[in-house]
Amino acid sequence: MVVNPTVEYEPEQVEAFDFRMAMEEASRCLLCEDAPCKYGCPSGTAPDQFIRSIRFKNVNGAAEIIRENNILGASCALICPHEKLCEAACSRCGIDSPIQIGKLQQFATEYERKMDKTYLSQTDTYSGKSVACIGAGPASLACAAELSKQGVDVTIFDEHSQPGGMLRYEIPPYRLPETVVDHDISQLEKLGVKFELNHKVTSEELEQMKEKYDGVFVGVGTWEAKTLNIPGSNLDGIFPAIDFLSKARENKESYSSLGNVVIIGGGDVAMDSAATCKLLGADSIYDVFVESLEHAPATQKEKMYDFQMGIPLISEFMPVAFIGDEKVERVRFEHVTNGSTMELEADTVILAVGQTTRDEAEAWKQAAGIFTGGDMVNGGDTVVQAVAEGKEAAAKMMNTFNE
Ligand code: SF4
Repeated sequence: MVVNPTVEYEPEQVEAFDFRMAMEEASRCLLCEDAPCKYGCPSGTAPDQFIRSIRFKNVNGAAEIIRENNILGASCALICPHEKLCEAACSRCGIDSPIQIGKLQQFATEYERKMDKTYLSQTDTYSGKSVACIGAGPASLACAAELSKQGVDVTIFDEHSQPGGMLRYEIPPYRLPETVVDHDISQLEKLGVKFELNHKVTSEELEQMKEKYDGVFVGVGTWEAKTLNIPGSNLDGIFPAIDFLSKARENKESYSSLGNVVIIGGGDVAMDSAATCKLLGADSIYDVFVESLEHAPATQKEKMYDFQMGIPLISEFMPVAFIGDEKVERVRFEHVTNGSTMELEADTVILAVGQTTRDEAEAWKQAAGIFTGGDMVNGGDTVVQAVAEGKEAAAKMMNTFNE
């Protein structure tokens, strides 16, 4: 991998509402009876309620409503595909344009962070139960928060040096600044959740945990990158997107130049990789995927961001060979319908063709006596979906404790 160490990799300032803009946008809300927007959120956030608070200048109250429901409310404000969820369900869609719910949520949670407000605290009613959560990504964090609020003693175990999972190691800082992730994590610490980091749980240890704790939740995500089984796949210069993004975020290693980059994949991870290459000063960047532009799985916002950066997105071409001696020099593609071919020069190739659970954890999906959720179960969905699954697992666990 080649990353230019002389180029600063700083997060962009995330465009946000100021007080006046937030009030104007909140005043557009119809404060609907049985508001449809709340049915659009997998994790059960009620935008109508927090928008009502903003409208009455109670920004604290708005942040409290968001935080009480979603421990990752600040991160979700920035990375949720609102246009496909709550905003798609908004009554104003049929009138002019939906309320910008995501930006109002960002406004409230930013206020909370800047004012250092805290609404959550450790309960003084201990349930007598203890739970181990394996993985410190969104599903585990949400599960841990819900349990902790109900007096459960929760410890989160994770192999990384910092909690957050894909929030910290996969989503680039121009979309989700580290300060926002840290702020969300600090809410768990206020709830009394303990973290055991740099701790990779094995199958043997998992069995021991089932004895030691009253409950075990596993949400270890999908950290194993899928590869392409085509000629030249073993050439140097070809990297999984997840490795590239986490190394680029840490920016600890010295590399020369990215040179000409070809990214393969049409999802958010591919778009993130392309934008990150641009920020790191790559000579040229092409993102190529098999779907049509319309059906590529990345959100419209991500596609637009890459377009605005001048990154060409090439649709409906499938990679058929990597060409080079020891190191990749070109990638050959074939059109998915008419069979025409093209070759692109490449000093670096980034594969964003999906991820899966690491081998050992794959078996845990079917293991008895544990609860699971998040990407390792759903195969890779939104952060807010992982939050919903973590909350659901916590509710099921509490039911078993109360039986
Ligand atoms: S559906 Fe739209 S207009 Fe109605 S309460 Fe929700 S955000 Fe407001």
